Amino acid sequence: MSNPIDDGRRKFLKTGAMAVASIPLATLMTHGTAMANVPDDAEDLPQAEDDHAHDYVNDHNDTDHSRYQDGQRCDTCQFWVESVDGDWGYCEHPSFSDVLVNANGWCSVYAPAS
Ligand code: SF4
Repeated sequence: MSNPIDDGRRKFLKTGAMAVASIPLATLMTHGTAMANVPDDAEDLPQAEDDHAHDYVNDHNDTDHSRYQDGQRCDTCQFWVESVDGDWGYCEHPSFSDVLVNANGWCSVYAPAS
């Protein structure tokens, strides 16, 4: 015969352990973008030119790409990290690691920041 107090305590400990175990994964999922770093030499990177990759344009108003939707621009994209030089900022997408992109820009791998 089981003791109801022991059963309750066992259930409480099991639930607590599961909650603690889930914290690191939840932290990584919600702070993944915030952990991105701008390289020390980012200010020295050239500014991207139109068509650098993925049909990139410096001004989202200049694209007629079928994937473009109103409101999409680099500084609302999950790959945008932060401004480095005025409107120019660092994008962590591998295709743009060697250039700065414009906050008003857009490319076809745009993904909304969450
Ligand atoms: Fe801009 Fe996002 Fe494309 Fe980078 S991935 S160039 S931030 S739209």
